[in-house]
Amino acid sequence: MVDGTLRNRGGSSIEPGIVEEFAAGLAGQVIQPFDTGYEAARRIWNAAIDRHPGLIVRCLGAADVIHAVKFARANDLLVSVRGGGHNVAGRALCDDGMVIDLSAMRGVFVDSKTRTVQVQGGATLGDLDRETHLHGLAVPTGVVSKTGVAGLTLGGGVGWLVRKYGLSCDNVIAFEVVTAAGDRLTASAEENPDLFWGLRGGGGNFGVVTSFRFQAHPVSMVLGGPLVHPRERAGEVLRYYRDFMTTAPEELTAYTALVTGPDGLPATVMFACWCGDPAEGERVLAPLRAFGPPLLDAIQPLPFPAMQQLLIPGFPDGSFNFWKASFVPALTDDVIDLVVERANRMQSPLSAVVIEFYGGAPGRVGPTASAFAQRHAEYNIGIIAQWTDPSGGAPHIAWARAMYDALESYSSGHHLLNFQSEAGNEVVKASFGDNYARLTEVKRKYDPQNFFSLNQNIPAAAA
Ligand SMILES: Cc1cc2nc3c(=O)[nH]c(=O)nc-3n(C[C@H](O)[C@H](O)[C@H](O)COP(=O)(O)OP(=O)(O)OC[C@H]3O[C@@H](n4cnc5c(N)ncnc54)[C@H](O)[C@@H]3O)c2cc1C
Repeated sequence: MVDGTLRNRGGSSIEPGIVEEFAAGLAGQVIQPFDTGYEAARRIWNAAIDRHPGLIVRCLGAADVIHAVKFARANDLLVSVRGGGHNVAGRALCDDGMVIDLSAMRGVFVDSKTRTVQVQGGATLGDLDRETHLHGLAVPTGVVSKTGVAGLTLGGGVGWLVRKYGLSCDNVIAFEVVTAAGDRLTASAEENPDLFWGLRGGGGNFGVVTSFRFQAHPVSMVLGGPLVHPRERAGEVLRYYRDFMTTAPEELTAYTALVTGPDGLPATVMFACWCGDPAEGERVLAPLRAFGPPLLDAIQPLPFPAMQQLLIPGFPDGSFNFWKASFVPALTDDVIDLVVERANRMQSPLSAVVIEFYGGAPGRVGPTASAFAQRHAEYNIGIIAQWTDPSGGAPHIAWARAMYDALESYSSGHHLLNFQSEAGNEVVKASFGDNYARLTEVKRKYDPQNFFSLNQNIPAAAA
C-alpha cells in the first residue's frame, strides 16, 4: 500500500526517531506526510503524477545532499531527485521513499569576463536567463522557462539557440556532483572525464548535480515569435518549413506546431527565433513571414528572456500530460501527411504536435564525444497530449500512443528521452546507440548498486 509512510526498499517502515536525528543534521528542511506543505511539496508540474514520498528533503547545499544520500544508503531507501520538477514521466518523485529536492537551490552566478555561469542544481531556465541577460549573455537551454536546468541539461537540452550554439549539455564546462557513495566530485574535461562524458546526455544515472558551470554566449535581443496559419494549410506550411530550414542560417531556430488557437480553432504555427544580427534576421525571415500569408505575424525584437516565456501559456500548471517523441531523419511528404492526419485527430485543445529541426551545431560534436548520441537525427516530432479532466486521460493517451506507433516506421529508432512519458529499456538502449556499453561502465564505476534508479535508467556493466 502506498500511504507515504517512509519505508525501506524491503518494505519495512523507518522509525520516526531516526528521521528526527537525520533532520537535526540538515541545514534545509524535511517534509513528511503529516507536515503542512506536504501536499504542495509532492506536486510537480504534470498533475497526472500522484506519488506519495515518505520523506522530502529540501536541501540547501551540497552538504545537505551528501547527508541525504548517506542517510538513504544507511536505511536502504528508494531515492528520487527533483530539479525543476518538469519531467513529464514524474521521475522527480517516488512512492514511500526519499525525494532529494533541490528546488531551494536556485542560485545563478555570472562571470562576465569569462562568459561563464555557475548554476545550482534546482534552478529553472528562467532563473538562469534572468541573471545572464543582465550581462548580455545567454546559455542554450529549452523553450519553456519554468523547466529545470538540471534534468534538461543531463538529458541533452534543445532550445531556441540549439542550431547556433548546440545542446545544453555541449555547453557545460564542469559539474559538481554528489555520487552514490556520498562523495563530492568535480566532473570536467580534466577531472573525472568519464563522469563528465556520461553526465552530458546520460541523465540522472550517476549522481546528484549540485551545480553546473556553463559557457554562455553573447545573446541579448532576438527576433522571434509566432506565425499563425490555418490548420487546413498545415501540409503546405510543413513543406515550406522543411525546405526553408534546409538552407536557413544557424542563427535561426524554428519549430512548427499543430495546435488549437486561443479562439478554439485548429491552427498551424511556426515559431522562429533569430539570435544573430537584427538587420540580417529581418532579411532572412522575410520570405518565411511572407509565405501564406499568415493569419498573424507576431515576430518582433524581444529580449531573450521574453522569448523564453512565450510558450508558457501553452503548458499551464495543473494540466495532465502524456508525451511521446520520435526522431525522423527526413521530413518526407509521407511523414508530413501522416503528422497532419494524426494531429487532426487530437482529442484536446491543449494537445499539440511539434516538429523541431536541430540541424547545425549539435551535429558538429561527434556522436561518441558525449553520452548524447543523436547528433544527426535532425527532426524531433513531439506528441503532446494535455488535458484537464483528472479522470479523462484515456483517449488522450491512446491518441499519443497511436501516433507514435504510426511514426515508428519513419523513425531513426532514436528518441529524445526527456520527452517521453514512457520509455522501456529497449528504447533507452537504442537511443544511446553506440554509447550504451560505455554508459554501463560509467554506471558500474559511480553507481554499481543503482542507487539512482528513477531516471532513463542504465544498468551497471557486470563486474
Ligand atoms: C513544459 C515543458 C517544456 C519542455 N521543453 C523542453 C525543451 O524545450 N527542450 C528540452 O530539451 N526539454 C524540454 N522539456 C523536457 C525536459 O528537459 C525534461 O522534462 C527534464 O527532465 C526536466 O528537467 P527538470 O529538472 O525540470 O525535471 P525533474 O522532474 O526535476 O527531474 C527529472 C529527472 O532529472 C534528473 N535530475 C533532476 N535534477 C537533477 C540533479 N540536480 N542532479 C541529478 N539528476 C537530476 C533526475 O533523474 C530526475 O528524475 C520540457 C518539459 C516540459 C514539461
